[in-house]
Amino acid sequence: MSNSRRGFFRELASAVASAKEAVEPEPPPPDLTDAEIERYSRQLVLPEWGAAAQLAAMEASVLVIGAGALGAPVALYLAGAGVGRIGILDDDAVELSNLQRQLLHFTPDVGAPKAESAAAKLRYLNPDIVVEPYQARADAANAPALVEGQDLVVDCSDSFATRYAVNAACCAARVPLVEAGVLGMAGLVMSIKPGRTACYRCAFPVEPQDAPRCSDAGVLGPAAGVIGSLQALEALKLLTGVAPPVTDGFLQVDLATSDFVRVHASRRADCPDCG
Ligand SMILES: [Zn+2]
Repeated sequence: MSNSRRGFFRELASAVASAKEAVEPEPPPPDLTDAEIERYSRQLVLPEWGAAAQLAAMEASVLVIGAGALGAPVALYLAGAGVGRIGILDDDAVELSNLQRQLLHFTPDVGAPKAESAAAKLRYLNPDIVVEPYQARADAANAPALVEGQDLVVDCSDSFATRYAVNAACCAARVPLVEAGVLGMAGLVMSIKPGRTACYRCAFPVEPQDAPRCSDAGVLGPAAGVIGSLQALEALKLLTGVAPPVTDGFLQVDLATSDFVRVHASRRADCPDCG
């Protein structure tokens, strides 16, 4: 090996060593048990996550609206990460046609209430958290009571009426919200800090009429999985501050072309929900 190459490798080794030093994880806090330190070890060692984010997640109360194709990855990842209290709201029963994409439900669950089916799997995944199933559908009448006292709401419903009702309730109660939708092989994700960033109605002032539904237009399972996983990521960002969420606009994802586009939206002074 020539002297110049040897010098290059020495410099590289020293750069790697100092980078390792820079990201040395902080020691876990005494508040975590040995089992918790082991369960959450792969996120605790992340320099962006660490003990403070873990404790923030464990103290958080999150409502997941819908236990379907988006709600499944959202609830699974939040339960896996140790979010302390997860409410899961759905008034449907599991159908055979759900199983292609709704990963919380299995064949023996067909006919069972989705909220109960989902809660049972989440408790298997993480018995250290509190999971509360609610057999109900969010609407304009009950949304204010549902979001009251939550640290975060993740809307995984498949209805525009529900989305606008949840957005209005979260804006009124100043509860952060993650919105998303998926159809076919495309979808979008948007985080909302009410009163500070554009809300769902700021971005989409008019409720679409005759919008196609998954039952008519179809949806691929992994496409819903990607959008739901992005939604879970946004939820963890909002709860812990580990990275900036997608606010003042949305992330538009086309999984047929593999295009991820960030679309900007501003707050509207005349927004009936957050203005
Ligand atoms: Zn608004």
